[in-house]
Amino acid sequence: MPSLIPFDNSYARDLPGTYLPVQPAAPTSPALVFFNDGLAGDLGLAAGALRDSAAELLSGARLPDGAEPIAQAYAGHQFGGFSAQLGDGRAILLGEVTTPAGTRRDIQLKGSGRTPFSRGGDGKAALGPMLREVLVGESLHALGIPTTRALAVVATGDPVWRETDLPGAVLTRVAASHIRVGTFQFFAARQDQARVRALADYTIARHYPELADDPAPYLALFDAVIGAQARLIAAWMGVGFIHGVMNTDNMTLSGESIDFGPCAFMESYAPGTVFSSIDHTGRYAYANQPLILGWNLARLAEALVPLFDADQDRAVDLANARLEGIASRYHQEWVAVMAQKLALSGAEDGDAALAEAFLAAMEGQGADWTRSFFCLTDAAAGDAQALRAQFDDPAALDDWLPRWRARLAADAPARLRAANPRIIPRNHEVEAALTAATEGNLAPFEALLAAIRQPYSNDPALERFSLPAPQGFGRYVTYCGT
Ligand code: AMP
Ligand code: MG
Repeated sequence: MPSLIPFDNSYARDLPGTYLPVQPAAPTSPALVFFNDGLAGDLGLAAGALRDSAAELLSGARLPDGAEPIAQAYAGHQFGGFSAQLGDGRAILLGEVTTPAGTRRDIQLKGSGRTPFSRGGDGKAALGPMLREVLVGESLHALGIPTTRALAVVATGDPVWRETDLPGAVLTRVAASHIRVGTFQFFAARQDQARVRALADYTIARHYPELADDPAPYLALFDAVIGAQARLIAAWMGVGFIHGVMNTDNMTLSGESIDFGPCAFMESYAPGTVFSSIDHTGRYAYANQPLILGWNLARLAEALVPLFDADQDRAVDLANARLEGIASRYHQEWVAVMAQKLALSGAEDGDAALAEAFLAAMEGQGADWTRSFFCLTDAAAGDAQALRAQFDDPAALDDWLPRWRARLAADAPARLRAANPRIIPRNHEVEAALTAATEGNLAPFEALLAAIRQPYSNDPALERFSLPAPQGFGRYVTYCGT
């Protein structure tokens, strides 16, 4: 019988000394809660057969043939402070598969028990937070934003203690790779130049193969990561996504979104929006994300700088020149996102100012980010009533609307509809779905999942998923380490 998951484990093979072998913990009574048939198909796996054995194979009960379970080493700056050793404390990489399209993907279990990197943690995960990872990954994917995704969630039948007993679960995460800024930092902090170089070579071969023959491949790698991450953060900003914990260990070299702990989508536009209970200073607030992009990439530059040039003074100059360019690189990506969302015709010098003027009009008005942009489609066609209704004082729009209309592309209504989602995972819906799932009722989770997979749908039956939180939902707070 062919293997259900045809593994080919290049990370384990090519990068000895960057991980430790581990075995997942055996769950008491594994039961499949979620399976991603579409993703299984994209991976070239036999979805039906894998689904049938997922409770065993994707929970740690039994290892799939060909898996080589490892915990990857990484370090990271968490809220600005450096931890020289983090690593997979509750995740186990089973191995990699190559999709029919020819791209390599990691298959990782999350919540499958302690590893040598667990420090004080239990290595486990609760069902609710793992289902949150499903919802956020599927939503970002449906919105066209690069992201890790969930292949399956298996309830373990074991309790997990998080101030109270919660049902435990194991998530199977699929990623372009799990190479993080913090992976490089781990070896750089140990002055292990050979492994920093080996990791860089591996990253180029896996994610940016076109750079292999570049005369300065490590600088080209850094440039490529700047580009990928600038595009990613601009895309997050466009949909109002707040990651919540943009530590350097949660930033990938591939440019995918990863690690959805305290993340959430912003409702009414406020640049300082923070959901995470532990982010007291607003370090990872909505409007700070582009600044953190640059801060994290500076940490990557520090790890890579010895590779940039044999002359270290020159290497530092080369790194600094790139760091100085990040803000304008990001701004260019952000303007491109906003030009799409506003359906601007061509590109003009005043486009950034026009986009900023819309945001300025929204600020302090209670205007819902997603709905305000969604209502632009009607506003472009001459009916600004729904857009105005988003604003406490609709007069805030009076100057802006004619300026915008003068810049609209001929096909503006179609472009606006394609660029501005109606449905995102609303915080109150996510909370309700996860609470019900934790109590054994998966119906709300499944309904919400079906809705967020069609972000641009105008189906009237999905109306409730397009609505902001009801009055009284209150300030939303999310939690880390869940
Ligand atoms: P995160 O906040 O998920 O990005 O994780 C930061 C670090 O804490 C990583 O090294 C994780 O592996 C580790 N970690 C988080 N939760 C646990 C847990 N329950 N048990 C062991 N390690 C954990
Ligand atoms: Mg993490």
